[in-house]
Amino acid sequence: MKTVLGKIHLKWCKNCNVPVLDKTCGICNLETFEVKVTPPGDARPAFKKDIELITKTLKMQFGLEENIFKDKLVLLNKAPGVEYFQEIILDGQIIGLLNFNEKKHDWKIIPTIEGARRLINAGCTKKILTVKKDVPKYILESGASVLRPGVSYVSEDIKIDDDILILIENDEQLNFNFSENDVLGVGRARMDYSEIISSEKGMVAKVRKAELPKTSEILLKTGTFEESIGLMIQANEDAITRFESNSVGFMKNTAKRIERPISVAYSGGKDSLTVLLLAITAFRNPEEPVEFDVLFNDTGLEFDETLENVDLVDKLYGLNILKTESGQFWEKVEEYGPPGRDNRWCSEICKVGPLGKLIDKKYEKGCLTFVGIRKYESFSRSKKPRIWNSPTIEKQMLSSPILNWSAMHVWIYLFKNKAPYNVLYTECFDRVGCFMCPAMEIGEIELVKQGYPKTWDRWEDFLKNYAKIHGKNEEWVSGDWRWTNKKSNKN
Ligand SMILES: [Zn+2]
Repeated sequence: MKTVLGKIHLKWCKNCNVPVLDKTCGICNLETFEVKVTPPGDARPAFKKDIELITKTLKMQFGLEENIFKDKLVLLNKAPGVEYFQEIILDGQIIGLLNFNEKKHDWKIIPTIEGARRLINAGCTKKILTVKKDVPKYILESGASVLRPGVSYVSEDIKIDDDILILIENDEQLNFNFSENDVLGVGRARMDYSEIISSEKGMVAKVRKAELPKTSEILLKTGTFEESIGLMIQANEDAITRFESNSVGFMKNTAKRIERPISVAYSGGKDSLTVLLLAITAFRNPEEPVEFDVLFNDTGLEFDETLENVDLVDKLYGLNILKTESGQFWEKVEEYGPPGRDNRWCSEICKVGPLGKLIDKKYEKGCLTFVGIRKYESFSRSKKPRIWNSPTIEKQMLSSPILNWSAMHVWIYLFKNKAPYNVLYTECFDRVGCFMCPAMEIGEIELVKQGYPKTWDRWEDFLKNYAKIHGKNEEWVSGDWRWTNKKSNKN
């Protein structure tokens, strides 16, 4: 997979404590180190609401009282899969995974050892288990589990399946006097506290990861979110200028070569906003101006925030955006049932149909549309060429000038240009498409439910009603609707 995607760009400057996309930092010129994120590796900055969700979850789980993220730029990297997982990157290191636990229907954090050190450092007293001094060697050498005789202390709040911090016992542990140098590993409890206390043998915890105790490398504070973003822009000036001029050059050349009317597809998302800004730079050039249209397709499932953003962008850049709208979703969904991961009828009805009609009418001889598709978005997009024929709209050729950009390139470029990105990104969302989509994980659904209850209610009312008519159960309403034929298509 790595060879298809190319290198993961995310690196970090230890000296300035900011993410850097090149080998050296643009502020101090020192060499950067690679951040080992999970591929495809499309990290993004964490906004205030993301940090609030993470700190709230850490408080509930581990009793964290201190804001360990204060005045630092934190990144989140979404790991691929059916469940919601975000790697949390602090000081250039992954300190844990934010997960929506579908069984317990709640947020939780699975700390890494580095995360465990930081939690202990910040005075956390929950979910702690200590082992006797002769136990670490078995765990480190052979990956053994923690057995009851090896346990010397266990905090009362531990329940079976909890993520726990595994420490080596010390003389002051009964006063909760722990140091990060006591941290041996992280694991998962196999018994409740009461069972541990009353048994003499058995497996108490499975060790997920263990290593020799060490001190964590805490880097300097970079200031408020805005100040930290300013530093990040400075540290990446070269990389962003290089990517920008490459993409602008590519757009100019492609427009000349293809000789078709040009358009830019704007969706209200960060990637298409980037393409739009690049198009303005490439084509609103007084020496060689090129006309281009901007297309926006309203699927009927847009957040109000997205519609507002489209209007704002339209006015701000004087675009006169051409809008298409299907307006058929709510009628068709009664007939077809919810669109599924294995049954995406919505794409034809809500997008391809209305857009195809517009293109047919407006561009008799076809058009070239610049879109914001990036290979780091998913493995399935990693093999795309930079120009291709639309598989669904005959007269449309598509081209992505930002195919090689990572989400960090996009974000730094947008911050640098003070671009009006959709506010939904500041509300814990990674993507801002339809408010409901069968591709959503339960965690994402939960974010919509909590943040936009009225919007979600309309969909849930539909689901409940449909379930009544068609004999579907509660699981179907709460998430199984995302597959039309669940058994054969569960991935
Ligand atoms: Zn630096």
